[in-house]
Amino acid sequence: MLAEMGVRVFLPEAPVVAQPAPVAAAEAAMSSAPPPAAAPRAEARPPAPVPQRPVAMPLAPRATGVESMDWAALEASVAACRACKLCNGRRNTVFGVGPAHAEVMVIGEAPGENEDAQGEPFVGQAGKLLDNMLRAIGRDRRTSVYIANVLKCRPPGNRNPEPEEVAQCEPFLRRQVDLLKPRIILAMGRFAVQSILQTTEPVGKLRGRVHHYNGVPVVVTYHPAYLLRNLPDKAKAWADLCFAQSLLDA
Ligand code: SF4
Repeated sequence: MLAEMGVRVFLPEAPVVAQPAPVAAAEAAMSSAPPPAAAPRAEARPPAPVPQRPVAMPLAPRATGVESMDWAALEASVAACRACKLCNGRRNTVFGVGPAHAEVMVIGEAPGENEDAQGEPFVGQAGKLLDNMLRAIGRDRRTSVYIANVLKCRPPGNRNPEPEEVAQCEPFLRRQVDLLKPRIILAMGRFAVQSILQTTEPVGKLRGRVHHYNGVPVVVTYHPAYLLRNLPDKAKAWADLCFAQSLLDA
């Protein structure tokens, strides 16, 4: 009506709203246009901490008198050991687990990732399989089996242990055997078998016979981690356990 009367009406201008560009156009713009200037920061933040690389500590000779230590001194000596370079990558030493009167001793290779994290040998899936194998011959790691490894610290990336590492660590295992005096040792896996028997023969050729380590009869079998990857060989491991049990029964 006012317009019809020749009166001009001044309406407030509507705010200009930016329209979203099509996605393709936006992407093209993002790939060719210079990056937008960084928005001013509300407040200065302290710089994020830079992760520190672990500092390699110097090695030190293994404690003397290992061959006459009692259990407590031996375990403390392992926990403090810096006799080989594996000490620099470990989270925990893995001494061994089981009762000090166990008739059966299981010896494996070295801690893996789970063992290093928990400080106990044979945990994870391989540990469960070992527990099942032991239960099948009426044994239990908490009450009647002592479990240890040749090496007490984890080789990085689960690589094979080096001869110098075995040479430095083996006296701890030998003393464990002396203190435990098991009636039989089950050596599990190529590395453990070859280390304690000082041989290069494969496990398959060493099975089914009695060997000796530190004066204790040794029965050789496959490592549970190997059996998880090679299920048909479980039957052979079962035969090895029965062989060990027959020696205990004799
Ligand atoms: S692997 Fe054995 S010798 Fe090497 S640092 Fe560990 S406990 Fe000591």
